[in-house]
Amino acid sequence: MTLALPASAAKPFTEGLVTITLDDGWATQFSLARPELNARNIPATYGLVTLAIAEGWGGYMTLAQAQTLVAEGNDIASHTLTHPDLTTLSPTQLVAELQGSRAWLESALGLPAVPNLVVPYGLQNAPVLDVIRQYYASSRTVNAGRNFRDTVIYELRANDVARSVPVSTVQGWVDQAIAEKSWLILVFHEFTNGTPTRDTEYVTSDFEAILDHVQTSGVRTVTLSEGLALTERRTHPDLTAGFFVYTDGLQNGFANWSWADHSLDETNVVHAGTSAIRFEPDTWNGLMFHHPGLDLSQYESIRLWVHGGTVGGQAVRLVLHDGAQVLGSIRLDTALGGAIAPGTWQQVTIPLANMGASTGTLQDIYFQDDSGTDQPVMYLDDVVLLPN
Ligand SMILES: [Zn+2]
Repeated sequence: MTLALPASAAKPFTEGLVTITLDDGWATQFSLARPELNARNIPATYGLVTLAIAEGWGGYMTLAQAQTLVAEGNDIASHTLTHPDLTTLSPTQLVAELQGSRAWLESALGLPAVPNLVVPYGLQNAPVLDVIRQYYASSRTVNAGRNFRDTVIYELRANDVARSVPVSTVQGWVDQAIAEKSWLILVFHEFTNGTPTRDTEYVTSDFEAILDHVQTSGVRTVTLSEGLALTERRTHPDLTAGFFVYTDGLQNGFANWSWADHSLDETNVVHAGTSAIRFEPDTWNGLMFHHPGLDLSQYESIRLWVHGGTVGGQAVRLVLHDGAQVLGSIRLDTALGGAIAPGTWQQVTIPLANMGASTGTLQDIYFQDDSGTDQPVMYLDDVVLLPN
């Protein structure tokens, strides 16, 4: 028996995929990570900061080493000229960073094309994305999560493997990608054989353990370019069914900036699909889902499912924010016309006009405790913005 997936479900690949990306072009990637990858025949994608290599900055690879990576069959992505926060640049600087780095890589490494961008710090907003689309075919962020065939390829998600991330956590991500046939992109920075002194350093033997798990699990390893070729190459979200904020995970470029006690992978209380959001709304804490920027005037309402847990009656406020000010807000019980019910899912469709939010650039969606006290756990699922 097969269960029909909801229309909102992300489209799986034919099998799980894992990509190893190595950011910035650190010398230890060449000296410590590359031998382990080569020993296992796993090609990786290196996102290079081009001026660091061109000018021989300390701690970075040499040009000859970068050329060796290419000769050994690895994938190269641009990581800009100087690794700035792209959202702070003038238009001229932005074009220089995007166009100049790509041109240098193609010339210095003899590559016919370098179509993919790794965004410094994962920071891109709507105006920056407009320019990225002119120079690149895809853009990889550091928003955590998995990618699917219909993921927008200018908002590729990737899980950062910082010093504090245990091997077992990464192994769990790999197993999840296999189970749901999604595409997991891992991000590494520097490597060390000793004790990490920076959050961006990872212990080489732990990296080996991750690669061993990748191999023994049998998951398919792909470079960024190879993974992209298996997608629908969707460059913009499909709005016909609405713009999804959350289905079985955050969608469409939304990143999790929540600070409340919560999980985006609740599997016991689920409205549809495999996961829901568990949220404990205490003392003004909140869920916060951040987006590079959406034109609110394209949307008429926001629809979601809410479950009050075992107790119900939570005081929670939905807030739409543009990063500087509140665009509109409403209490969920007000929108429901009564208290959040315990033990059951309720759908609520909230016209943006009822929140006072008809125009503006939406960057943040909050579900925030509105009581200032300790409230019981509740659940949310299938949050979608419905177009006009
Ligand atoms: Zn970087």
